[in-house]
Amino acid sequence: MTTTPATSAADKPQATTPQPKAKKVVEPRPCLCGCGEQITSRKGIFRPGHDARHCSQLAKAVANKELTKAQALAQAGKASEALRNKLATMLDNAAQRAKAKAAAPKANENVAP
Ligand SMILES: [Zn+2]
Repeated sequence: MTTTPATSAADKPQATTPQPKAKKVVEPRPCLCGCGEQITSRKGIFRPGHDARHCSQLAKAVANKELTKAQALAQAGKASEALRNKLATMLDNAAQRAKAKAAAPKANENVAP
């Protein structure tokens, strides 16, 4: 006669199957500038160089009155503080240029600041 000890598997603490954690896999996400390209690097929200591109796009949107200055700055601020500052400078420059243009319609526009 054999006495079988009723060991149920449910009693064992290793019921939870260890889930493989994807540590280094980065979920691709779209570049914030809207180009449609994916970013696969761990850091960053732009493709290389696309932060500047995004900046000028926002500046253009403001110039075309598609966005207010505040909206554009908020957008840039989503990316980074640095980009926001960059856009602020860009918008200031654009505003000054527009002002200069309005004051002197035939001013030479090739003058570098
Ligand atoms: Zn992009």
